[in-house]
Amino acid sequence: MATKQSPVKIHVRAIKPEIASPPNAGLAMTIFNYMPTNIRARFAPSPTGWLHIGSLRTALFGYLIAKTLHGKFILRVEDTDQKREVAGAVESLIKILDWTGIRFDEGPHLGGDYGPYVQSQRLAIYEKYAEQLLAENKAYRCFCSVERLEKMRQGQQAKKLPPRYDRACRELAETEVNKKLAQGEKFVIRQKMPLAGQVIVRRIARRHKISGPRFGRPDFNKVRWYADLSVRRGG
Ligand SMILES: [Zn+2]
Repeated sequence: MATKQSPVKIHVRAIKPEIASPPNAGLAMTIFNYMPTNIRARFAPSPTGWLHIGSLRTALFGYLIAKTLHGKFILRVEDTDQKREVAGAVESLIKILDWTGIRFDEGPHLGGDYGPYVQSQRLAIYEKYAEQLLAENKAYRCFCSVERLEKMRQGQQAKKLPPRYDRACRELAETEVNKKLAQGEKFVIRQKMPLAGQVIVRRIARRHKISGPRFGRPDFNKVRWYADLSVRRGG
């Protein structure tokens, strides 16, 4: 019998420093209190044009934190959005960062023990994790066409609703999935978020939310998460 599920609640809580900190030290003290000393910080810009000043600030923060804590600072090129990629942007990125004096310990131009450091060269790693998520029932294949998703999005916007996927493929029967796979239908892998309960996200700094779900390549947010895991683990 189906049980009535309450909608999932998502809480985002800022982590508070555990020790007393000077009044103006705020974020820096918060970060330092929670950082391990062997950290591996990474800067992951997209090669879609000139380096944005905001990205440069992010790189500087990462570099200062990594070096203050005697950690490593890593450059990983986030070339998942191939449609927007600009020729020569990677070289330009490296040149600008070099000019600023921000020094990397590992990266596509330096090598290192946990490469490759270009996202598009790491697809085999993500395929492995995508398969794992599917096997653990934490993800599912979505066969919806771009046209269907676009029509759905427009309908939601017309009703002033936030655009979201309607989970049409979430409960597809295994036989149906296999049939579609056998017919060579294209799919993306979606995360199976719990529909009830609470998700608590602890954050120490506000992050930008970036979407980009349908490139035929791994979704930007998921890639970044698994990339961070796999960079640490070395794949
Ligand atoms: Zn679907």
